[in-house]
Amino acid sequence: MENQGKKMLESAQNLIIKTAKNLGLKEAAIKKLIEPEMVIEFNFPVLMDDGSFNLFKGWRVQHNSALGPYKGGIRFHQDTSREEVQALATLMSIKCAVAGLPLGGGKGGVVVDPKTLSEKELERLSRTYVKAVFSFIGPEKDIPAPDVNTNPKIIDWMVDEYIRLKLKTQNSKLKTTTQNKKISKKTLSYWRSTFTGKSLALGGSLGRKEATGRGGVIILKALLSKLNPKSQILNSKQYQNSNFKNSKQESLEFPRLTVGVQGFGNVGYHFAKIAQEEGFSIVAISDSKGGIIKKSKVKSQKSKIGEVEALDIPLVMECKRKKGTLAGCYCAGGVCDVNGGKMINNEELLELPVDVLVPAALENVINEKNMKKIKAKIIIEMANGPVTEEAYQYLTKRGVIIVPDVLANAGGVVVSYFEWVQNKSGCLWSEGEVNGKLEMMMKKAFETIWKKSVKKKIPLKQAAFEVAIEKIAHLIE
Ligand code: NAD
Repeated sequence: MENQGKKMLESAQNLIIKTAKNLGLKEAAIKKLIEPEMVIEFNFPVLMDDGSFNLFKGWRVQHNSALGPYKGGIRFHQDTSREEVQALATLMSIKCAVAGLPLGGGKGGVVVDPKTLSEKELERLSRTYVKAVFSFIGPEKDIPAPDVNTNPKIIDWMVDEYIRLKLKTQNSKLKTTTQNKKISKKTLSYWRSTFTGKSLALGGSLGRKEATGRGGVIILKALLSKLNPKSQILNSKQYQNSNFKNSKQESLEFPRLTVGVQGFGNVGYHFAKIAQEEGFSIVAISDSKGGIIKKSKVKSQKSKIGEVEALDIPLVMECKRKKGTLAGCYCAGGVCDVNGGKMINNEELLELPVDVLVPAALENVINEKNMKKIKAKIIIEMANGPVTEEAYQYLTKRGVIIVPDVLANAGGVVVSYFEWVQNKSGCLWSEGEVNGKLEMMMKKAFETIWKKSVKKKIPLKQAAFEVAIEKIAHLIE
């Protein structure tokens, strides 16, 4: 929604202004950090199956290219707005800098509910979008990717259209209609690097679909390694209010930590699955229709970890695929104790007394209305902007550790960067290689932000913005 987009943009810009002022940046540099370098806005007609044309509104916002080409997804959503796309482009500049990537921030959007279109209409819309932005994108200019309601299939149509237009431009330059220049494999791979999040057949990277969830688990483990009660760090002033201060040591050993995950899509599912493989107990998950928990005894805040049974995430997914809903899937993989399983709604999930809460679906879900009921000690922001400004201030004061989205969900853009590098150099990395490099980059990003947070006694979000703005400002001042 326009208002929500405005709020999101204001909140991102205010944080940048505050951080930049604290760092002593000049007005001109601050302006460059908040104003996008280019906003491409267009209305484009798309042929409908009944022969009529519908007009759609689209954007590509190129926020900042100090660190490298613009990078960011394209979302198809009926409620998207110029302000929302600009806010997301701005946050992409921060995210790429936080992750240590040689990339800037961009984002695209189209006002459309893709569920109302046929597949052919969706394909024509995707191809026409590319025609509109063709001259503004490219491997060294701007590299789009999937976002909300766009996926590898849509990106493959976009890549195909981009290559068709490249060939057309190239052949018209040859000034001959009889002899079209043959394209080498190397050139094709290079052109394909204009988009990431492609299918494997068109040059996508192994490990991309799991990357955002995997990156989040790497960050959670890195954080827990710092919160060991025996370590000095927990006693530092910055974390003196942390709920962990009074926790028993056993609750800090992550195989025993309980985790609640809101959202069972690409990010939520892979986060939950990989966290389970790492030994965490995923005790609750949800999707848009509601959530499940295996035992009903977690009602009380005093409940012990042992009273909640972990869900088996791959089996729950198998069950959801078969039934089309999570309802009853707490029984998956075991003898179902009907009394032990329970459906919960999304509000209840957020308020469970879990150790770690992972909002991985929508923005603004932890807000003024429910912030006082949040019991988790750690929140990992896997969705973009799931904690509102008011809730963030309140919970941080209460000692809840919030890992900001610009760090927690950066795994996706890191592997997108790997895809771009692989396409440009014409090589294909194994999944092990991709995961190893991802782990290295996420740990490095975390370490830098953690050190700043402890040294300056500031929350992780503020530290992340400082790290990013220092990197960008250094090049634009
Ligand atoms: P997705 O469409 O695959 O999954 C979204 C999930 O949220 C689904 O399970 C859906 O049922 C659930 N959901 C929808 N409405 C809900 C509601 N009202 N309450 C609870 N759950 C609800 O999307 P995704 O790719 O997993 O992205 C999720 C979030 O992560 C978004 O904020 C996105 O911007 C962010 N993100 C995604 C990536 C990525 O690589 N996919 C990277 C960075 C950030």
